[in-house]
Amino acid sequence: MRRMRLAPWMPAMLLAGLASPSGHADVHSVPREPPAAAGEAMAQQPQATVAKQSAVNAVDRQAAELTALSDRVWAYAEIALREHRSAAALADHAERQGFRVQRGVAGMPTAFVATYGKGRPVIGVMGEYDALPGLSQKALPEKTPLVEGGAGHGCGHNLFGAASLGAAIAIKEQIEAGRLKGTVVFFGTPAEEDVGGKTYMVRDGLFRDVDAVLAWHPSDETQADMTSSQAMVDLAVEFRGKSAHAAYDPWNARSAVDGLELFLHGVNLMREHIRPSSRMHYTIVAGGQVPNVVPEYAKGWLWLRDWKRSEVDDLLARTRKLAEGAALMTGTAATVTVQGGNWETLLNEAGARLLQANLLWLGPAVFTEQEQAFARQVQRATGVPEKGMFTGVKPLEGQQAEGGSTDVGDVSWVVPTLHVSVATSPLGAPWHAWPVVASGGMSIGHKGMLRAAKVMAATMVDLYEQPETLAAVQSEFRTRKGDTTYVPYVPDGPPPLPKD
Ligand SMILES: [Zn+2]
Repeated sequence: MRRMRLAPWMPAMLLAGLASPSGHADVHSVPREPPAAAGEAMAQQPQATVAKQSAVNAVDRQAAELTALSDRVWAYAEIALREHRSAAALADHAERQGFRVQRGVAGMPTAFVATYGKGRPVIGVMGEYDALPGLSQKALPEKTPLVEGGAGHGCGHNLFGAASLGAAIAIKEQIEAGRLKGTVVFFGTPAEEDVGGKTYMVRDGLFRDVDAVLAWHPSDETQADMTSSQAMVDLAVEFRGKSAHAAYDPWNARSAVDGLELFLHGVNLMREHIRPSSRMHYTIVAGGQVPNVVPEYAKGWLWLRDWKRSEVDDLLARTRKLAEGAALMTGTAATVTVQGGNWETLLNEAGARLLQANLLWLGPAVFTEQEQAFARQVQRATGVPEKGMFTGVKPLEGQQAEGGSTDVGDVSWVVPTLHVSVATSPLGAPWHAWPVVASGGMSIGHKGMLRAAKVMAATMVDLYEQPETLAAVQSEFRTRKGDTTYVPYVPDGPPPLPKD
């Protein structure tokens, strides 16, 4: 997930709208309660069914295999759309387990779909496996690159893919044994950190026949998610002018950089007149070659975000006008190209409650004194409070917002999506940074990964065994979605694939 840390300053008022797009679900009425202790939580839960207990046992039985799979993907550390060995490791494993595997879907060689079983319900689970450039790190509690300048799993997607596949296999075993009826689908979703592979998979209809889909994300805390993610649009803004000698005949020239500068000045003045929830950030991709040649080409790259897609669309329309105005003033031509984007995540409280119940049923995470010491050492090294690992389950709540966007948002508008976060990294330590890589390559991450696999497997069992629960999840989805038609931000055709 392309995210920032929690924004505790963000007024609850701002978030009221995003937590319940349809206005019907009042997540703010969920009482805050301290994380339940294991015994107490267990006591509140009904007896697990045979299928649920077997699914959880299946994860335990696979622990060594899943850990090895996660470690392989961690070591490959392949970035977006280059995750060839990582995708193959997961797809091959699924195939060996008896899944029918369709590789290279939605125009991406590293996207795949693995299916087992037949008939309804069709329950999906999504896995990611792309790494981030420049974050190579050993599984040590101090910043030590494994490969100088190399990539690393700074978002824990090695754990993400392995856990989700583990959950799918646990369900497959139940279907195979006749304890559950229906189909389980594992979605191998590449490039979350870049183009957002899921958006292309949604656009190509791969989620069309799915009744509900699950996903999790590595985190520094554990909770069923009732927080949305930001909608965003990714833009290229190009200016084309005329070149001439910057001293000999500048009157013959029209500077594309002037156009880009004025445009960006406009963006920055616009900041005063946008909602506090809006975010606009950019880089300058091209701005001329040498000062004595008036630049004929300049390019900016912008991301516009807000909690609602409608706000993002408004920012987009205003940004187009800024580009037109800047071009007019500088005698250049401007082109605005939408390169991609994500919708905000459509929440599902019925699904979140189910995940939460299973988190509590499974009980708290247990870390050894050595693991807690590792976590505190990471915290010391990054200057955050030395609180060790989070071991509880956070109460279900919708107040806290996280900045950032994810292609899970796009999936959530076409199929009811259940999302859970599980602690795999020291509390408060920086994300998209070396601590996540370090803890994701050792026992702390492995434990979180297995826990995520279990909570998803248990929740999936509920969806197979309780048609009324699945119906409630689907009905909430329909209500929240209303008459909105999902239209992806991505342009036609496959995503731009790396050439080498
Ligand atoms: Zn991520």
